[in-house]
Amino acid sequence: MSQSPTRDDFERYMVPNYAPQRTIPVRGEGSRLWDQDGREYIDFAGGIAVNALGHCHPALVSALKGQADKLWHLSNVYTNEPALALAKSLVERTFADKAYFCSSGGEANEAAFKLARRWAHDTHGAHKDKIISFRQSFHGRTLFTVSVGGQPKYSEGFGPIPGRIEHAVYNDLDSVRELIDDATCAVVVEPMQGEGGVVPAEADFLHGLRALCDEHQALLVFDEVQSGVGRSGYLYAYMHYGVTPDILTTAKALGGGFPVGAMLTTDRVAPSLAVGTHGSTYGGNPLACAVALAAVETIDTPEVLSGVMRRHALFKEHLEAINRRHGVFKEVRGLGLLLGAEMAPAYEGRAKEILPLAMEEGLMALVAGPNVLRMAPSLVISDTDVNEGMARLERAIGRFVQGA
Ligand SMILES: *Cc1c(COP(=O)(O)O)cnc(C)c1O
Repeated sequence: MSQSPTRDDFERYMVPNYAPQRTIPVRGEGSRLWDQDGREYIDFAGGIAVNALGHCHPALVSALKGQADKLWHLSNVYTNEPALALAKSLVERTFADKAYFCSSGGEANEAAFKLARRWAHDTHGAHKDKIISFRQSFHGRTLFTVSVGGQPKYSEGFGPIPGRIEHAVYNDLDSVRELIDDATCAVVVEPMQGEGGVVPAEADFLHGLRALCDEHQALLVFDEVQSGVGRSGYLYAYMHYGVTPDILTTAKALGGGFPVGAMLTTDRVAPSLAVGTHGSTYGGNPLACAVALAAVETIDTPEVLSGVMRRHALFKEHLEAINRRHGVFKEVRGLGLLLGAEMAPAYEGRAKEILPLAMEEGLMALVAGPNVLRMAPSLVISDTDVNEGMARLERAIGRFVQGA
């Protein structure tokens, strides 16, 4: 019999682009996970805002198993029932008239940026190709999406990168006014920056972007890969702000852990992705779409969404109480169940040191950059798990402060 894989196998067999924790989780249920040794953890990381219904939610397991016995894959030569049902559901629940499916957030953004360029090319001419995005933004790891993203470390050394992309300052409308012109085809923005440090947009900023895009016939693209599917307490964060984009990308929580992404857009823009212009082998995969439909239907209910708001208050209360006792944070921020605690000046740049200590106490958390401790738990995490998880986090933070 072959032995179980070990963490050493990571260095032995895998490309070194990640540095995972030592622990290997093997099973999950709700907001609890167990590792190879049977140790139990509470999950405040949520697979980086993916496991929006926790682990092995019955509605998702049942959708996956039901579809597994029917049909797995067809290709784009045929359409399929789960893809059509998911497209209809997303269109009925949002501003969008049309959906395009793929398998990840990066791919959804790749489609969005290509569509923006192609639409501008078709309707205005080849000169209208400039994309404006924001410093610190994150849009994925393909060459186009790291180029639009505002973190140069992700595109360094991979050049030449796609051109005609400029970066403004997040939440600073004047910095956009300086860059935008009639050759701009799109402004791309996360309504809440996730990887960039859990920074929600100001409402005036998003309303201002909408007006600037209209003035210059540019498309407004919202990357809701991290903020979408209930995370903000609304199905999509644009609903919280009351600002409607022309294109919206969604992934992460959309499949609740099954890989799926989507780009949503309007009837005005969609025709530029005419037959043959774009595609993806797995886009609209029946397994992925069946699970995503179950996730969207389960999450987009008044009970789950109002539950997100209630849990937001509970998380904030706990984090602020921990901070009163240990003074580690400068600020606790975020919308719904995407929360960021920025480190106090005395602990500048050291958020990451808390993660292994938290693991030792039985808690999984995240960082967003060097200075922000991030949490993206299940939208339906129980109060018991929140309270116990916070007790574990406080023990880890107590040790962090003592060792400091
Ligand atoms: C995670 C993320 C992406 C990339 O999604 P992948 O599925 O990793 O390709 C894009 N945009 C935002 C805002 C994200 O948080």
